[in-house]
Amino acid sequence: GDAITVADLAQKLAMKGGDVVKALFKMGVMATITQSIDHDTAVLITEELGHKAVAAGANDAESELLAHAEEVQGEKQQRPPVVTIMGHVDHGKTSLLDYIRRTKVATGEAGGITQHIGAYHVETPKGVISFLDTPGHAAFTQMRQRGAKLTDIVVLVVAADDGVMPQTAEAIQHAKAAKVPLIVAINKIDKSDADPSRVKSDLLTYEVVAEEFGGDIQMVELSAKTGQGVDDLLDAILLQSEVLDLQAVFEGRATGVVIESALDKGRGPVATVLVQQGQLSKGDYLVCGIQYGRVRALFDENGTQVQVAGPSIPVQILGLSGVPEAGDDFVVVADERLAKDVAQQRDTKRRELRLVASAGNRMEDILAQM
Ligand code: GDP
Ligand code: MG
Repeated sequence: GDAITVADLAQKLAMKGGDVVKALFKMGVMATITQSIDHDTAVLITEELGHKAVAAGANDAESELLAHAEEVQGEKQQRPPVVTIMGHVDHGKTSLLDYIRRTKVATGEAGGITQHIGAYHVETPKGVISFLDTPGHAAFTQMRQRGAKLTDIVVLVVAADDGVMPQTAEAIQHAKAAKVPLIVAINKIDKSDADPSRVKSDLLTYEVVAEEFGGDIQMVELSAKTGQGVDDLLDAILLQSEVLDLQAVFEGRATGVVIESALDKGRGPVATVLVQQGQLSKGDYLVCGIQYGRVRALFDENGTQVQVAGPSIPVQILGLSGVPEAGDDFVVVADERLAKDVAQQRDTKRRELRLVASAGNRMEDILAQM
């Protein structure tokens, strides 16, 4: 294997060079900081130190962060629901999202650039609803695997002319596993061969039981093409939301989750985040996964600059040190120092865990050869 200098190894382990030299000495290896050690020795010392490095000391900034988070507890108020649309391919997910966006999203300033930011919110006379504009089961599953619980309600789109199909069943499983309530949107009722009652009876097989059959699942017949029934769907979502009694703290430092992110040539790292608690404002310092930064600008779904965003509202932000990952959480902190410390410690920790994991694998190889 390749040799590595003690200094480089120390850096990888986020340790002082002298401490690595000492640890090597205890193992019977004499090396100065500028000297190289062979790969196997590096693996052994990493294994020896890695766990300790991960376990000790690395959590100081995190605990300061937690202390901050506890400070922000305030009075909870009702918050808007966050909705994900799922369903079989071609059943009309994109059409429905587009229809709602086109007809219900408050239009921005003249000249504002409408852009895809992965989520949008609508203001209906009865309340606000946020939609995650990322149909696709993969995105939903990925978010869940990363521990992000973003969605309050799943709208399951089933085309009335096609009925329950494999991805319909899959979406039901996903929603059930995530314990997220379903509303069924029976779409394409404008078509002559639409058969909504067949959809309802098919769904019985999956224990998705309509209210008219004695169950508790709201089913709305609609057309994403003509718009018929779409308002009923929005009403159904708000009704479900009331039942769920969704709440959040509206004041104080914001926390939330990254929905999507990218590196923009001109603007640098951009992230669409969903605020979950508190209020995110321009100028806030935040930690976002292993990135940190100061919010330079916030944009809504119309590409219009906004000053603040509260719970359940998606916004695109600029000002991060790097591109975070979808599903990463973000936390607003008091100052840049803490933001940077937490981000760096997380980064170090992630690397160490990776090193320890690979050292572990190497150890198994070595043992296997003995
Ligand atoms: P997705 O794969 O679930 O995102 O489905 P799309 O939104 O791309 O729709 C698939 C096809 O069905 C497109 O050709 C749409 O124009 C059509 N479609 C969607 N909704 C309706 C509807 O309510 N009525 C009719 N007639 N066609 C629809
Ligand atoms: Mg689509």
